Parts: sequence; structure tokens; C-alpha cells
Amino acid sequence: MKSVISALSAKLQSGEWSSLYLTEKYIKEIERRNPKLNAYVHLTFDEARKNAEAADVMISEGRATPLTGIPFTLKDNIATDGLLTTCCSKILQGLKPYYNATVWQKLKAQGAVLLGKTNMDEFAMGSTSETSYFGAPLNPVDTTRVTGGSSGGGAAAVCANLAAYALGSDTGGSIRQPASFCGVVGFKPTYGAVSRYGLLAYGSSLDQIGPITSSVTDAALVYDAIRGDDKADGTSCPTPDGKTVLRGDVKNLKIGVAKEYFEGISPEIKGAIDNMIAEYERAGAQIVEVSIPALKLALPVYYIIACAEASSNLGRYDGIRYGYRAKNYTSVDDMITKTRTQGFGKEVKKRIMLGTYVLSSGYFDAYYKKACLLRKTVESQMAEAFEKCDVLFAPTAPNTAFKQGYSGGNAVETYLSDVCTVPVNIAGLPAISIPCGVDKNGMPVGMQIIGKKFSDALVLDTAYYAERENLSLCADVEGGVKL
Ligand code: GLN
Repeated sequence: MKSVISALSAKLQSGEWSSLYLTEKYIKEIERRNPKLNAYVHLTFDEARKNAEAADVMISEGRATPLTGIPFTLKDNIATDGLLTTCCSKILQGLKPYYNATVWQKLKAQGAVLLGKTNMDEFAMGSTSETSYFGAPLNPVDTTRVTGGSSGGGAAAVCANLAAYALGSDTGGSIRQPASFCGVVGFKPTYGAVSRYGLLAYGSSLDQIGPITSSVTDAALVYDAIRGDDKADGTSCPTPDGKTVLRGDVKNLKIGVAKEYFEGISPEIKGAIDNMIAEYERAGAQIVEVSIPALKLALPVYYIIACAEASSNLGRYDGIRYGYRAKNYTSVDDMITKTRTQGFGKEVKKRIMLGTYVLSSGYFDAYYKKACLLRKTVESQMAEAFEKCDVLFAPTAPNTAFKQGYSGGNAVETYLSDVCTVPVNIAGLPAISIPCGVDKNGMPVGMQIIGKKFSDALVLDTAYYAERENLSLCADVEGGVKL
């Protein structure tokens, strides 16, 4: 893996390329390849050109940061003032917010260049990006397969070199799992480390914004640029001052391996992770076996809490304030019913119904309350594991990228494929997915490195060892902007 951001930044700083020139290169590639890949759903080329001109001024005045002038994408659930933000749902058709998400405010102030908004599962509900109102993005490694989800468009754009990096959101794995399916890096920070202001909510106690990149170095650069306390998000927290230092220092690092993470994992994926663990051991890390029996509770707990929160969060979409409104109706109630019936897709409706059910009187204690209690058990057992180790290594997903269309007829299997990613969201922990090999079809396998709360820098540094030693290789796909 090499740092695309550092390489591009060096060209901009030396004056070899202007940001506008670089931006036009990306625009040309997007125009050529996006019609097939469907990674972007809204293109913001006018904004990109304006951003690039501003970045060129910043560079000429010596005010550049590592992200100045670098073209990137935002997931379509991150609010952008005056630019379409639709969560890939019909119900938000045509919605242009009046404010910017904090992450976009921060990046804009640093001279970042926004190329567009990327494809996703509708309201971030899914693991393949196929529930998008705009149709699924294709996996650039093998276009007959899905990108994963829900931040599939961002992972596809980075993999196909149609953006230097992407921001995604991760409620139950939506940054890490598509990163693993597309052979790139996906980092979900500690809950609270990055402001959620302007992220259109799915499960507010689980949602977190983070970067999808083609190297660990880039993930750290983007993380440093977007993190920090924010008055506009009451759940955000201060993060350490100064930049994240990457040394790849793994000597005497205690790596925990929990057998529960490997139950039901394909032998190929397990083998790829075992090889990676052996490499770290050779470098002087200590491997510690740990047990987290509550991991098996994480998936049902996640689907109860995420759906409960979604049913409340999505209640605001009623045809009155945002986006789509049904055409023919006889009363306000009829308008709201028809707008929702026509505007929400099947998966979103299913989850709103599930969420409403688990919150309804008579079922609240049996489902929602119980899930909240068991959430604490998962959290405390993970915290106990971190008394014995510094980081945990685990698969990102039990499988590699599905064929397009497969998940439609296999809903339960698709939900089960989140089994390795959801525990981290339930416990609010930081985790990164890095590529660690390919399966027999050449599809990328991802490995997670998980840390305790606010050990984001350690998680990144541990992953950096694999980058420095060339143990982790991103997918190499034809075309796109390359160096
Ligand atoms: N696949 C999970 C779900 O469908 C996670 C989605 C996400 O992280 N946004 O809920």
C-alpha cells in the first residue's frame, strides 16, 4: 500500500500539478468509468472546480495542509449545503440541505475538493449497497460482484482510483465491510471521536463517520483532519492534540485473538488472518488467546437497537419538510401515508416495522430493554478482553464479496454477514479493516484490528506495520487516476 494522498500532495506542493489540473483528471476518469461502476450518484464538478481554485490559492500562499487540493467523495448521507444529499432514497429525492456537516466544513476549510456523493444502501441499511434507489455500484475488482455496504460507492470509488479517498459512515460495519470487499482500507473511529453533525441519522448511538482509503497512512491523515469535539454534536468528545504518529511499532504488542470471532468463518479467510497474525508474532508481538462469549449476542442486539433507533429517526420523513411528496392525496394523513409508501424502499420499511414492533408497549421490555442490557454485557466483556491485550485481530466479514443479486434471496445470510463488524459499534470501539489476501476467486479478504475506546492511534499504528512491511496490499484495478 502506498499513500495516494502524500504522493498527490507532493506533486501539488512542488508545483508540478495544480489542484485544478488534478481535479480535471479525476473528472475525466469519473465521466469515463462511473456510468458502468455507479460509484457516484451525484456529481459535484462545479463545486470541485471551485474548491480546486481555492486550494491552488492556499498552496501558493503557503497555507496548505496534507489534504489541500486533494479530490475526494462524501457518502450520500452526509449533508452538503446546496448539493444533493439523498441517502440514496426516493423519499429524499431532490433534497439540498441548507448546511454543511461538520466533517465537510472541516475538510473544506483545509482545501479539500469534493467530486461528488457516493452510492450506498438506502439510509445505510444493508451490506451490499443493492438497496440504493439508484441501483447498486459494481465491485471494481470483479464487476459481477457487490461492493459490500452500505458505503459501497465510496469503497468502489477509492478502489477504482476515482477519488483519492472517501468518507463513509459505519453503524454496523458499513465502512469496514465494503473496504474489505473492495480490497481497500476502512477505518471506523471510536464513537464520538468524529462529529456526527450533518450525518443523516440511522442508529444514532451506533453511527460513526470515518475514512475509506488506499493506505493506512491516508486513513490517519483523513482521521486527523476530521476528528475532534464539536459543540453541534453532544456525543462528540475531544481527541488527543497533535497528529497521529505512525511507526509500525509492534514489538511486545499484545494481540488478542478471540475464538468466537472465528466461528463459522470460511477456512480461506481464517487462513489469511492466521498468516497475518504469524507475521506480527515474528515481529515480536505477543499473541494472547481471549474469550468473549457475548460476541454471539451482538448481532441480535444490533438489529434490535439499530431498527428501534431507525424507526424513530426516520419518523421525520413525512413529505412535509424534506424531499419527495406523493402527488395525489385526500388529506394530510393520506399524503404522509402515500409519501412513505411510495418513498421508502422495501428494506427500510421492514426495519421501520421491526423497530416500531420492538418499541411498542408489551414488547418493549422483552426486546428493546433486553437488547440494551445485553449491549452492556457485550461492552463489558470486550473491555475485559482489553485487560489482557492491547488490540484484537479478527476477520472483517465471514465471507468475501457476494455475486450481484445474491443477497436479495438470502436476507438472513446477509444479516449474518455483519457478525464480525457489529460488536465494535455496540461497544463504541475503534476498528480498521485492512486487506490481508485474496480468496480462490481473487476477491479481497479483510482483517480487522480493534482497539479499546480512544486507542484510535494505536489501532492505526498497528495496521501501519502491515503497510510498512508490505504485508497488506490493496486491490490493483486497471484505470483511474494513478501516480
Ligand atoms: N449491514 C448493517 C445494516 O444493514 C450495517 C449498516 C451500516 O453500518 N450502516 O444495518
